[in-house]
Amino acid sequence: MENDQMPQNRRSVLCIAAGVAAATAVALLADERFDSPAAGPAGPSAAPALGGPQAGTVSTVRKSSAYRLQPMTAFAPARLARGTTPVRQQAFVRMPGLGRSMVLTFDDGPDPRWTPQILKTLRLHGVRAMFFVCGEMAVQNRDLLREMADDGHVVGNHSWSHPLLPELAPARVRDELGRTSEVIERTLGTPPLWYRAPYGAWDRHSFAIGAELGMEPVAWTIDTLDWCEPGTGSIVGRVMDGAEPGAIVLSHDAGGDRSQSVAALSRYLPKLLQAGYRIKVPTR
Ligand SMILES: [Zn+2]
Repeated sequence: MENDQMPQNRRSVLCIAAGVAAATAVALLADERFDSPAAGPAGPSAAPALGGPQAGTVSTVRKSSAYRLQPMTAFAPARLARGTTPVRQQAFVRMPGLGRSMVLTFDDGPDPRWTPQILKTLRLHGVRAMFFVCGEMAVQNRDLLREMADDGHVVGNHSWSHPLLPELAPARVRDELGRTSEVIERTLGTPPLWYRAPYGAWDRHSFAIGAELGMEPVAWTIDTLDWCEPGTGSIVGRVMDGAEPGAIVLSHDAGGDRSQSVAALSRYLPKLLQAGYRIKVPTR
């Protein structure tokens, strides 16, 4: 995304800040009894069960007319009517219940320069990943969206234009997420069940709106900081240093020169598999 591109000196500062933040997040994780949204409305018991009905969950069923700021179509995701998605207060920072498995995620695409290379590597090793796509990229690259789905990857929602959602009015958040879900459903036949806020910046509005749209929020455990272009070796090192059961790896297939991200995947993926990790995607 162009939004992610900024002057080199500012990027360097942010890279350092992001590294500190990532380390803090991982440290906090170690203190959590459960893996993911421990602060959810249903308490810790709600966290491990990603799919099933959960006690105390808050669900909201909206008419399709409330789905978008300015509905241009009669579109409404099938899951919307079910109203079974809880409103979280924290995104999933790891995936419980997958055993000795990890989850690979790629944000901001699809980008015809980098996404096909990542798909090729994943295909070579027979593993599935999650792609959190931006609507404005997806609408221009629907063939890549279909290729992701055909290979069994999970396509998630990463907003339309990659804004900081907490800075937007709720109606605009609904538009950003809703339009992207619409493109995904119109292309693949099913709406996304997972979403990731740009910059990992959620607030109560985006949690509520994501749930309205039938999506669960997914953060990450390991930030590769690949968008800083820190060097292929650095990205590989971050993944291998952070590898653990249930870990979610954040990297990018768009938003700049992602040649390092592509090269790193082809190095760390076989290493993870050799170390006995399985690479999986969550199901609901
Ligand atoms: Zn992003």
